[in-house]
Amino acid sequence: MYKEDTIAAVATPPGEGGIAVVRISGPDAEEIGGTIFSRNNGTKGRLKSHTLYHGRVRDPRSDAVLDEVLLTVMRKPRSYTGETVVEVHCHGGAFLAREILRLILSQGARHAEPGEFTKRAFLNGRLDLAQAEAVLDLIQARTQKGVSLAVTQVEGGISGWVGAMRSSLLDCMVQVEAAIDFPEDEIELLQRDQLAQRISEFREEINAILDTYEWCRLHREGARVCICGRPNVGKSSLLNTLIGEERVIVTPTPGTTRDVVEESLNLGGLPVVLWDTAGMRETDNQVERIGVELSKRYIDKADLVMLVLDGSNELTAEDESLLRKIDNKMMVVLNKDDLPTKLDRKALKPFHTAGIYSVSAKLGSGIEELKNGLRETLLGVNVEASIVITNLRHKSALIRCERALNNAQVSLSEKQSAEFVAVDLNDAKEALEEITGKIHNEEVLEHIFSQFCIGK
Ligand code: GDP
Repeated sequence: MYKEDTIAAVATPPGEGGIAVVRISGPDAEEIGGTIFSRNNGTKGRLKSHTLYHGRVRDPRSDAVLDEVLLTVMRKPRSYTGETVVEVHCHGGAFLAREILRLILSQGARHAEPGEFTKRAFLNGRLDLAQAEAVLDLIQARTQKGVSLAVTQVEGGISGWVGAMRSSLLDCMVQVEAAIDFPEDEIELLQRDQLAQRISEFREEINAILDTYEWCRLHREGARVCICGRPNVGKSSLLNTLIGEERVIVTPTPGTTRDVVEESLNLGGLPVVLWDTAGMRETDNQVERIGVELSKRYIDKADLVMLVLDGSNELTAEDESLLRKIDNKMMVVLNKDDLPTKLDRKALKPFHTAGIYSVSAKLGSGIEELKNGLRETLLGVNVEASIVITNLRHKSALIRCERALNNAQVSLSEKQSAEFVAVDLNDAKEALEEITGKIHNEEVLEHIFSQFCIGK
């Protein structure tokens, strides 16, 4: 399955800290541990599994003591990787941890690749692929919601569902196979309408889960919102009012905010990154042009654009050109509502927007409504599903599964032969299995685990 050699790495981040952990996994882990470690009370003999021992790490070649440590052996299969794992908890100096690792490597272990411990856990059946990926999500989570979504997946949220759906699909496949094996009885064996109805229910279930992806992604990664508009319409003022602090310098001279300013906002549990871009206008000024180019790049990356217009002035040709050019999801903010209104909302009718909000960035009026609108527009309906997907790879596998089921439904309704239905159902089953780990492509596996840090 894989080359069963012994791997080792520092499992804690580089830098100084209270302790650092060096991890060894594989057939020689225990022997290497025994060579470099001696107990403080002088006792020898086999260490008990899953027990911490106090002692010293010594270089057997020079007998020099490197550190006073705690060491534990976790004998296979009851360990993270499913192999025998030894962990050395040493003092938390980056140099020290590296020296201990170097000693372990000199005893025959190989330096682990990124994610190799988790890859072994997967290959040894300790985790399925969806759970292994959730471990990565957990490490990278930036919000409370991100952590709780990842924990649900590590504990087998999507995996459990995949197992149940797979067995329902197998039931259907048995029925279809029977019809293939006994063609003369096809009419009785293959109750087409009933089967099509079941498949349609499967598709509904899958589509409901697919709908959770965007919601989860936004909660996990944070939503990216780009504030743009002509110079001087009040973008920086709006950003300040939204985050409730004077962060960006506001000046009455057009074109002051040349770089993109980034701020974070907690929108009722949804993390939002706000980008205040340079004023968007055609310009000959070299510095300003760089700013405008940058704005365009940020607009492309954003989940939503807030286009700010000055409500105390009529719509200008530049505003119209922005309204036409931006093709992301776009909310329009009519600012300077404290001044007499000159901008006629009817002028915005021809443009496709996800809501128009009147605010005064100066006085703070309309800001709560704007925040609520922003949250709703970003998230859409509230997700209460118990099974959610958080991973793009799972999403594309589910889409393929849903398509294959759709084909099966069409084959059934068009009274095509049972063989066709069997092929479609099998495609659906294979797509589903990819989520938890039947990956036939080694490169895909390599890619998944290469995103982990070394030592995980
Ligand atoms: P930006 O260039 O779009 O970032 O615009 P600024 O935020 O720098 O604001 C430009 C000018 O408009 C400043 O003089 C602000 O004080 C003023 N301004 C911004 N928002 C409002 C508002 O809601 N009402 C009024 N009356 N003035 C505003």
